[in-house]
Amino acid sequence: MMPSDLYRLAYFSRSVIPADADFALEIRRILDVSRRNNARIGVTGALLFNRGAFGQVLEGPYAAVDGLFETIQNDERHGDVVALQFEPAPERGFGPWTMAHVGSVGATDADYGAVALAEDFDPATCSGRELFATLRHLLVDCGPARSAA
Ligand code: FAD
Repeated sequence: MMPSDLYRLAYFSRSVIPADADFALEIRRILDVSRRNNARIGVTGALLFNRGAFGQVLEGPYAAVDGLFETIQNDERHGDVVALQFEPAPERGFGPWTMAHVGSVGATDADYGAVALAEDFDPATCSGRELFATLRHLLVDCGPARSAA
């Protein structure tokens, strides 16, 4: 892939997975499908889930990321999808991961620093670059212990 065809997209959304659902199972399903599909289309990234909100970074060729984001936006497991950043990237930030998972259903806000995903979290207060930096920090700087899978 030409370096100029590497794009990074970051978004936040609100989960509409019912409160009585098995969240761990739902997240596992999303990750399994993501890893299978993303490997095929050359997309890498990270998915954060905490307290009712998703934050995700997708990296790959423009057409692959654009098409995947269209699919993801239509997924009824979440809503209020807000794209924070979609721009060329100099290199992959999540090279080894077809879709890394950050966080857990029971994690506390303190684990997420600047992007504390409280239920009243307002995506407008967080930029795509902040989301990218936080996910990368949790995965790369803090080591693989943070990535649940
Ligand atoms: P299928 O084979 O059609 O489905 C695989 C499994 O997912 C099945 O168990 C099916 O029941 C379940 N499923 C599929 N769509 C839905 C739905 N709308 N509601 C409930 N269950 C469903 N997909 C990726 O490929 N890459 C990603 O990085 C990615 N990130 C996501 C992030 C979030 C926050 C969410 C909510 C979804 C994400 N998805 C991602 C899933 C994406 O929206 C599509 O569901 C998926 O790409 C469909 O792939 P498929 O046709 O191969 O799966």
